[in-house]
Amino acid sequence: MSAGKSTPRQSGAYEAMQSENEELAEIRRAVRSLCDEFPGEYWRAKDAAREYPDEFVDALTKAGFLAALIPTEYGGSGLKLDAAAVIMEEIQASGCNGGAAHAQMYIMNTLLRYGSEGQKSEYLPKIATGELRLQAFGVSEPTSGTDTLSLKTRAVRDGDEYVINGQKIWTSRAEHSDLMLLLARTTPREEVEKKTEGLSMFLVDMREVIGKGMAIKPIRTMMNHSSCEVFFDDMRIPASALVGEEGKGFRYILSGMNAERILIAAECIGDARWFIDQAKTYASDRKVFARPIGQNQGVQFPIARCYAQMRAAELMVRHAAQVYDEGGNAGEEANMAKLLASEASWAAADMCVQTFGGFGFAEEYDVERKFREARLYTVAPISTNLILSYLAEHVLGLPRSY
Ligand SMILES: Cc1cc2nc3c(=O)[nH]c(=O)nc-3n(C[C@H](O)[C@H](O)[C@H](O)COP(=O)(O)OP(=O)(O)OC[C@H]3O[C@@H](n4cnc5c(N)ncnc54)[C@H](O)[C@@H]3O)c2cc1C
Repeated sequence: MSAGKSTPRQSGAYEAMQSENEELAEIRRAVRSLCDEFPGEYWRAKDAAREYPDEFVDALTKAGFLAALIPTEYGGSGLKLDAAAVIMEEIQASGCNGGAAHAQMYIMNTLLRYGSEGQKSEYLPKIATGELRLQAFGVSEPTSGTDTLSLKTRAVRDGDEYVINGQKIWTSRAEHSDLMLLLARTTPREEVEKKTEGLSMFLVDMREVIGKGMAIKPIRTMMNHSSCEVFFDDMRIPASALVGEEGKGFRYILSGMNAERILIAAECIGDARWFIDQAKTYASDRKVFARPIGQNQGVQFPIARCYAQMRAAELMVRHAAQVYDEGGNAGEEANMAKLLASEASWAAADMCVQTFGGFGFAEEYDVERKFREARLYTVAPISTNLILSYLAEHVLGLPRSY
């Protein structure tokens, strides 16, 4: 017996937003309309050439979306994380790639919370207008991997400057950003009481140091993500680039990571929606054995399952954003949102390729491009294992594993 007749969803429409307030629904519509100007052909050309989508990032900036979290007194919209999450979700659900611009949203949080008034008034208005881009986040290093506390990049105070030596890897968008939020060790690990101390955060004006202590080398990857290695060789930055207190950088990073995880999770929900929508439309149109392939339960059930998985993950993403916006500690919810949403988007990506059959591999449908792009999020910015480890140890109280 059916649970009640409901009207099939329209292609491209997403009615879950009905439970949202009008402001968020309006943001969705506005993002969607901007994204309509950047169709599959645009992304395919950028992907093939491994080019940064400057036009798209400029359009997002001009429309004010990348300044969503910047307070109004600095020229932004002063919105909360739930609005930023809706922006990122809708970009992905439109088939675009928010990976080109998402860092500005989640790095922003660290600058807003811990930056000095001087840093905020100098940089935020320029970031809001697009004069400056804050898109580079230098944490990962080749030798330390996920073990951030073992990172080796050193910042040594010398008068009113810091001298930086070391190397970062996977610093995405470094070639397309003016500012970088950089994590470096200011006190050697052996000299700190707690191993979480001794790391510091810097807001580096890259325009001043490229070719003068900073060198950038792009890494060609599976998808178009503009990731780079960044080398520091006696790079001098003013002491005023320090964000917050010296030695407290790890704490700042941890607090910023909740925002990052919620925003990435929202992107994954958008990706899952895109894959489900594509699969639904294709399965309804494609006829094999003289009937739509979507008439076969072997084709429609995986789509329905992915839809249910996406909707469940979406609830956790919204809940996490709410806890965060209300000022609570969203560690548990942000981690679960990222885990569930990245798994939902990857399941939907796999299902979509299967639904398309051979055409899932043809570039012109964008499925293979989105499939490659969606693969990232169970690995970065934090891998599934590390999220499970957080939940096991910090939420469930199981013994520490590392
Ligand atoms: C395209 C791309 C863009 C990125 N952009 C940025 C960026 O802009 N800025 C930045 O700082 N970083 C960035 N990263 C880095 C990203 O955050 C890391 O790749 C990610 O955190 C995993 O670290 P790792 O690659 O060093 O893996 P490793 O730490 O080497 O881990 C490898 C595997 O082992 C598992 N593992 C490791 N330790 C444990 C353990 N104790 N228990 C169980 N499993 C374990 C991990 O889960 C993972 O699956 C990016 C990465 C990629 C691929």
